[in-house]
Amino acid sequence: MSKPRLDGKVAIVTGGASGIGAATARLFASSGATVVVADIQDALGEAVAASAGPGCTYVRCDVTDEAQVEAAVGGAVAAHGRLDVMVSNAGVLLPTGSVMEMDLAELDRVMSVNFRGAAACVKHAARAMASRGGGGGSIVCTASVASLQGGFGPASYTASKHALLGLVRAAAGELGRHGVRVNCVSPSGVATPLSCAIMGVGPPELEAMTVPHNVLRGKVLRAEDVAEAALFLASDQAAFVSGHNLVVDGATTAVNPAVLHTLGL
Ligand code: NAD
Repeated sequence: MSKPRLDGKVAIVTGGASGIGAATARLFASSGATVVVADIQDALGEAVAASAGPGCTYVRCDVTDEAQVEAAVGGAVAAHGRLDVMVSNAGVLLPTGSVMEMDLAELDRVMSVNFRGAAACVKHAARAMASRGGGGGSIVCTASVASLQGGFGPASYTASKHALLGLVRAAAGELGRHGVRVNCVSPSGVATPLSCAIMGVGPPELEAMTVPHNVLRGKVLRAEDVAEAALFLASDQAAFVSGHNLVVDGATTAVNPAVLHTLGL
């Protein structure tokens, strides 16, 4: 199978200034797309857009503000005439503590970015995609292994990613009539500012901490690997893939690692 391409397509990547989003923006641009990097870290976002490829731009867009999401989508359509791909990737992982001590204001902050922000992205991308002649388009949301199981992060984060997966499945059902596909990518741990900050370590230390717990050996999950999964879902190679949660976790959620360990497998 040839490598997926996005020639002629216009894509928005939220949270595109850093980590998985930055890797996705770069890979999409090198695969032929014109990418709009949307984030709240202006300097980083400008730098990613400038280095990603010709025609790529940065727009400041706080996904917790629906008007900014609507403006980012409208701006992309005005500048490029269409929107083919929305990668709703912006996310936060806040130390909201155990359930019994959970700060509900912090829970609101997590939900406002990871779930409500993604809902705004799905809503306005879908409107732009459905309203053009013939419809069509691909929406890819960065969820997490925390969309499937507890224990990968604070309850607030787990709840936000479970909610996001529900949104994706519901949206895939509703938007199919417009030819719009909606999917998730769900990575396990990747050393990015988000994961390093919550653990209080740098990327090498974080990778050293996670690798021994991986089911799949001989490989460290990197942001570029997650971007490849997003590229597939965004591309026409995934033309009949919708409502799917593409887990990128080296089988971590497919098995019970504790049982595997106990059985010596
Ligand atoms: P990151 O911190 O490198 O990138 C997140 C980006 O989102 C940042 O550039 C940040 O500025 C942006 N952002 C945060 N709030 C925003 C807002 N309100 N509006 C617009 N942009 C905002 O972290 P990352 O690990 O690359 O995270 C990307 C996505 O991947 C997140 O949704 C995260 O939950 C998910 N994820 C990460 C991991 C991991 O281990 N790193 C694992 C599974 C899922």
